[in-house]
Amino acid sequence: MSNEKNFSRRRFLQFTGLTLAGAAHAAPAVATEQAASGVGATPPAFARLLRAASLPQPKGARVVIVGGGWSGLTLAKYLKRHNPAFDVLLIDRHPSFVSFPLSNSWLADQINLDFLSHSFFDAADNHDYHFLQATVLGFDRESRKIYTDVGHIAYEYLVLAPGIDYDYARIGVEDAEQQELLFQHYPGGFVSASELLTIKHKIQTFKGGTFVLNVPNGDYRCTAAPYERACMMAAVFKKRRVHAKILLLDMNTGIKIKKDGFHRAFDELYKDYIEYLPSSEISGIDLDAKAVTTEFDEYPFDDAIIYPPIRASRLIDEAGIANPKSPQRAANTDPFRYHVVGDEHVYVTGDSRGQPFSKGGHTAHSEGKYVAEVIAGHALGKDIAWRSPQTMCFSSVEIDPLQAMSIITYYKFNEQTNVFDFDRTHMIEDWDLQGGQASLAWAEGMFRDLFYR
Ligand SMILES: Cc1cc2nc3c(=O)[nH]c(=O)nc-3n(C[C@H](O)[C@H](O)[C@H](O)COP(=O)(O)OP(=O)(O)OC[C@H]3O[C@@H](n4cnc5c(N)ncnc54)[C@H](O)[C@@H]3O)c2cc1C
Repeated sequence: MSNEKNFSRRRFLQFTGLTLAGAAHAAPAVATEQAASGVGATPPAFARLLRAASLPQPKGARVVIVGGGWSGLTLAKYLKRHNPAFDVLLIDRHPSFVSFPLSNSWLADQINLDFLSHSFFDAADNHDYHFLQATVLGFDRESRKIYTDVGHIAYEYLVLAPGIDYDYARIGVEDAEQQELLFQHYPGGFVSASELLTIKHKIQTFKGGTFVLNVPNGDYRCTAAPYERACMMAAVFKKRRVHAKILLLDMNTGIKIKKDGFHRAFDELYKDYIEYLPSSEISGIDLDAKAVTTEFDEYPFDDAIIYPPIRASRLIDEAGIANPKSPQRAANTDPFRYHVVGDEHVYVTGDSRGQPFSKGGHTAHSEGKYVAEVIAGHALGKDIAWRSPQTMCFSSVEIDPLQAMSIITYYKFNEQTNVFDFDRTHMIEDWDLQGGQASLAWAEGMFRDLFYR
C-alpha cells in the first residue's frame, strides 16, 4: 500500500511536469521543483490531486469518459445500453450542458436558452451512469488512471471526447498575452458557452459600422456554422435597422458547403449587410488598431468575432497520443476501431478524432453509438463491423419565422487512396419553413435521446 502511494506520488510529479501545460500554469513548476530537490511535503493545494477521487466503489468494469459534449454523452448512454455491467462515469469541467448546434438560431432570438441548456444530472440519472464535474489534467496509461482536480480515478476503459482547442498561432497571433486578449474581446464562439453569451450581447448592442467575421481554414468545427452565423447576425441587424456591414473573411477559396444556398441568401436577403471575401488568409490582428491583416489587405473593424483555425484538444497532445503527422494534432487512433494505436483500453471520439469526418454534433452522436458497441464488444470478446458515422446539419438563413436548409451525408473508406471519402449525400439548399421546423425537431430529438427517457 505504501509502495503504491510512493509510486503514485513519484509518477504523478513526473507526469504533471510533462502534461499539465493546459491547466494551472504554476502547478507543474512547483511540483517538479520539489521532485528535483527531493525535499518538502506536497503543498496542500496539490494534496487532493494525489488522492483517489471520492466516488462510490465501481460495481463493474469502470469506463471513464472525458467530456460531456455530444460525443461523451452519447457514449455514456449507449455503453450502459450495450453492457449494463459497465460502471460508467462521465466527467465534464462544466456544471451543465449548452448546445452549440442551434446556437446561431438562439443568437437571432428564434429559440431561448432553455431549449439549448440541459442538466448532466438528468442525463446520468435517466441513463443509469455517474456524472462528475471535474477538470481532467492528464492520465497514465500504464497504471490506467486519470488525474483530475478532485483526485485520481482508475479505469478499465477510457474514452477521450474533449473536443477542440483554438490555434491562434495559425492566424499569426503567437504571443500568449495577445491570444488571451483576442479570445476575451473577440471570442470565436466555437468552444464554450461563455463565448456565445458575449457574442449575443455584441450582436444585440452593436451600434453600427464594420463587424468582421471569419471562416477558418483546415478541418474546422461545423463547416456551415460560420456562414450560418453571418446570416443570423445580418438578420438581427436588419431587424434592428442597424447600419452595419458584416465583412465575412473566408480563409478558404469559396463557401465550403451549401454553397448555392448561402450565396443566394447573401445576395437576396442580406445584400446590404454581408460582404463576402473568399481567399482571405488572415495573417495577423492588431488589437490596438482594431484591424485584421490578410496577405493583400488590412480591414479595420468596429467589432469582430474571430474564429481561429482549430486543433484537437490539447489533452491529446499533452498525453503523447497525438498523431505526429496530423497538422491539427489529432489522436493517433485506429481509423475503424477508434482506440489509441497499441492500446485497446483508450479511445478517442468526437471532434478530437483523427478521421476526417465532419466535425458535427450529429456525427459525434452516430459515431458514439458505434464506438459504445465496439467497447462493449471488446469487453465481451466480440468484434463489431465498422459502420460509417452519419452527418446531418441544418443551417438557418432567415428568421421570423425560422427558415433553414440541410445536408445528410455518410462516409466510405477508399481502399485505393487509403482515405475516407464522402459517400451518399442528400442536400437541400432551398431553405424554407419546413427546414426551420425540421432543425428544431432534430435538436429536440437529440436532446431527448441524450438527457431524458
Ligand atoms: C456555433 C456552432 C454551431 C454548430 N452547429 C451544428 C449543427 O447544426 N449540427 C451539428 O451536427 N453540429 C454543429 N456544431 C458542431 C458541434 O457542436 C460539435 O461538432 C460537437 O459539439 C462535437 O462534440 P464533442 O463531444 O466532440 O465536443 P464538445 O461538444 O465540445 O464536448 C467536449 C466536452 O469536453 C469537455 N472537456 C474538455 N476538456 C476537458 C477536461 N480537461 N476536463 C473535463 N472536461 C473537459 C468540455 O467542457 C466539453 O463539454 C456546431 C458548433 C458550433 C460552435
